[in-house]
Amino acid sequence: MSMPDAMPLPGVGEELKQAKEIEDAEKYSFMATVTKAPKKQIQFADDMQEFTKFPTKTGRRSLSRSISQSSTDSYSSAASYTDSSDDEVSPREKQQTNSKGSSNFCVKNIKQAEFGRREIEIAEQDMSALISLRKRAQGEKPLAGAKIVGCTHITAQTAVLIETLCALGAQCRWSACNIYSTQNEVAAALAEAGVAVFAWKGESEDDFWWCIDRCVNMDGWQANMILDDGGDLTHWVYKKYPNVFKKIRGIVEESVTGVHRLYQLSKAGKLCVPAMNVNDSVTKQKFDNLYCCRESILDGLKRTTDVMFGGKQVVVCGYGEVGKGCCAALKALGAIVYITEIDPICALQACMDGFRVVKLNEVIRQVDVVITCTGNKNVVTREHLDRMKNSCIVCNMGHSNTEIDVTSLRTPELTWERVRSQVDHVIWPDGKRVVLLAEGRLLNLSCSTVPTFVLSITATTQALALIELYNAPEGRYKQDVYLLPKKMELTDDQAKYLGLNKNGPFKPNYYRY
Ligand code: NAD
Repeated sequence: MSMPDAMPLPGVGEELKQAKEIEDAEKYSFMATVTKAPKKQIQFADDMQEFTKFPTKTGRRSLSRSISQSSTDSYSSAASYTDSSDDEVSPREKQQTNSKGSSNFCVKNIKQAEFGRREIEIAEQDMSALISLRKRAQGEKPLAGAKIVGCTHITAQTAVLIETLCALGAQCRWSACNIYSTQNEVAAALAEAGVAVFAWKGESEDDFWWCIDRCVNMDGWQANMILDDGGDLTHWVYKKYPNVFKKIRGIVEESVTGVHRLYQLSKAGKLCVPAMNVNDSVTKQKFDNLYCCRESILDGLKRTTDVMFGGKQVVVCGYGEVGKGCCAALKALGAIVYITEIDPICALQACMDGFRVVKLNEVIRQVDVVITCTGNKNVVTREHLDRMKNSCIVCNMGHSNTEIDVTSLRTPELTWERVRSQVDHVIWPDGKRVVLLAEGRLLNLSCSTVPTFVLSITATTQALALIELYNAPEGRYKQDVYLLPKKMELTDDQAKYLGLNKNGPFKPNYYRY
């Protein structure tokens, strides 16, 4: 196994940096309004503060930024029993023990454990795949001996994942992949249950790396698996503890950016263990893009505007997975939906589904709502915005906040009025108002929650990937990035009839579900 030297951040190209900035900005936009903190992008790693130093109170910054580059789809409930302002003492300065006398954790307040337990139990209700994996496999303990170091959002849903991994035999040490997304009461419940969790909502940058370090760097305990969301943990191990890779059997990565980095490492010949790309598994993609957007578009629109959509004219730009989900939800409410598309096949699909395919220019004056779902840039331009009618709602469901040319609205003749969290009225000199949601960032991730069931699909994929990598015989996986194998079962008779292997896969790799 080739071991890397203490290496710098694996070749992050300009494109990736931009993607990261967009993700950062998108993810934390709603949190910015909660904390009223200024936006700031944090540099990765090399210039990192000394992470062992205790922060002073003034040094504990409340930055609106993400260190995590987790996928746009991995987001979860913003609900939290408390916020970080209820106690000004840093968790790092507190002495806390759980009811069994263990202090092998660092959370905001261990006394919140009971509330956190209720949150976890609620999440379990709609995480049937994970719970059934737990039930089916806990006798076999496929993760017996696994020492998993994890870095993900710490929410009720990920707590169900962590507890499933423990039920399957693993020992877990966990930190948060994001400084704002931790549900403090859930972290407390995990700590009370004996998980070594180091995370709280509102960590400083210094805290963030300190927590990761506490998970990796522990006397008498060495991780043999990594579960990462965003690549920060993997990066930390590469940079600070490359020897840990001698024992690591595999990395499971969830996010777009983290996966991109793994591919870059692999291309540079520097990936020293097998890695599983969860982001691109069909189960995750389909649920995140199509079904999750179908569920959450209305949630985001309703929470921000209270508008009735029956009878409203809506134009959706892009009829890919995300667009299809949005259109299905809007149609079900009785909205009149127009589609714009550049791809004739998707345009034809829109027609076949009963939508009118138009050019944006043709309908821009009459529509009540404009939604972009293309992943492209400048789909809605200043010219379009100038021609919209009064009170037109404009929002974006695509990954990048460049789909709507929001920058072009920051000119002296237009007035911006913040009317609610995530809702701006942009006012033209003649009094016309355009209602801009989430400043053109992803609407659902900024203004609504992601259904627990969707997170369950992703969490189950992560658990299966860990089981697969941990139990794979020597040589099955090389130092490369893999997708989870599609293992299924047909009867001998059916397999013969279809000319397939009875254990799958049943579809060629290029098949689009
Ligand atoms: P997709 O490729 O399936 O669909 C995008 C569609 O937009 C394509 O059909 C393309 O032809 C069309 N398009 C491109 N430029 C266009 C233009 N100028 N005008 C009209 N149509 C145009 O991709 P997808 O899976 O639907 O994802 C779309 C975006 O949403 C991506 O940026 C993705 O990262 C993001 N996404 C968002 C969420 C969320 O929760 N909001 C979830 C998953 C993905």
